[in-house]
Amino acid sequence: MDTIEAAAAALHGRKNILLFTGAGISTESGIPDFRGPNGVWKTVDPKNFTLRHYLADEGFRQQRWRRWFGEDSPSYRPNAAHKAVAQLWQTQRMVGCVTQNIDGLHVDAGLPPSALAEVHGNVRGIACIELGHFHSVAAIRERWLGGEPDPRCKCGSILKSTVVLFGEQLPTAATNRAHAFSLGADAAIAVGSTISVFPAAEYVLGVADRNLPFVILNMGPTDADELATIRLDGKAGDLLPMLVEALEVQTV
Ligand code: NAD
Repeated sequence: MDTIEAAAAALHGRKNILLFTGAGISTESGIPDFRGPNGVWKTVDPKNFTLRHYLADEGFRQQRWRRWFGEDSPSYRPNAAHKAVAQLWQTQRMVGCVTQNIDGLHVDAGLPPSALAEVHGNVRGIACIELGHFHSVAAIRERWLGGEPDPRCKCGSILKSTVVLFGEQLPTAATNRAHAFSLGADAAIAVGSTISVFPAAEYVLGVADRNLPFVILNMGPTDADELATIRLDGKAGDLLPMLVEALEVQTV
């Protein structure tokens, strides 16, 4: 039977573990995933999250800024699973973390940005569509609060957060880092992901394809279950801290 002890044993001696995280690692921080039982796709049409729709619909853009900067905009904090990823990094057993998440909670939990590849972007910046002029979130929030419902760049272009929408290129710096982490890994742990979104999934599947130890921690099935050395069903916030603790007491 697959257990935490069996997962730790499978990862014994590994010093370059790739962490691959998805929306499920952040649900315990209050952020819904896309495909889980209470996932966003149950109520929202994925078509709305395309670059084409964002550019074409000013009302949609205004709604996005309102959700981000408005009075009732939620604020999220890292949970025990994000902290466990940062802790694993500190024990020097990790090559890096590839995340599909855009929420920034890995960094908030203390993982250094150099150890992280946010392949779908993040909510920490805003850039213009035409020329990529970068703006701080604080500066654009100020303008929004000052009465601009859809702030524009100084060049006149539409502004957008640095989150990747459907139909956009993935950020090159992040994909280069993810590629290097994947090639340098000697094992992988996937947490809170259906491992079904491509090309992101390739970074972890590349490790499994080399017959290296591959542990999946997820609530519910994933598309890569057949490739897993060990697969544990449960909450990331329970399972990952236990696994990291079990790895810490190993003599490598
Ligand atoms: P997904 O929605 O396809 O799958 C999430 C998986 O996590 C599901 O199997 C779900 O059952 C499981 N899960 C939910 N809560 C869990 C928990 N507490 N512990 C363990 N497992 C849990 O997510 P994905 O694979 O990341 O792909 C979705 C896409 O959505 C990604 O491209 C990502 O960019 C984006 N997304 C990001 C966020 C975020 O930044 N937090 C949130 C929603 C969606």
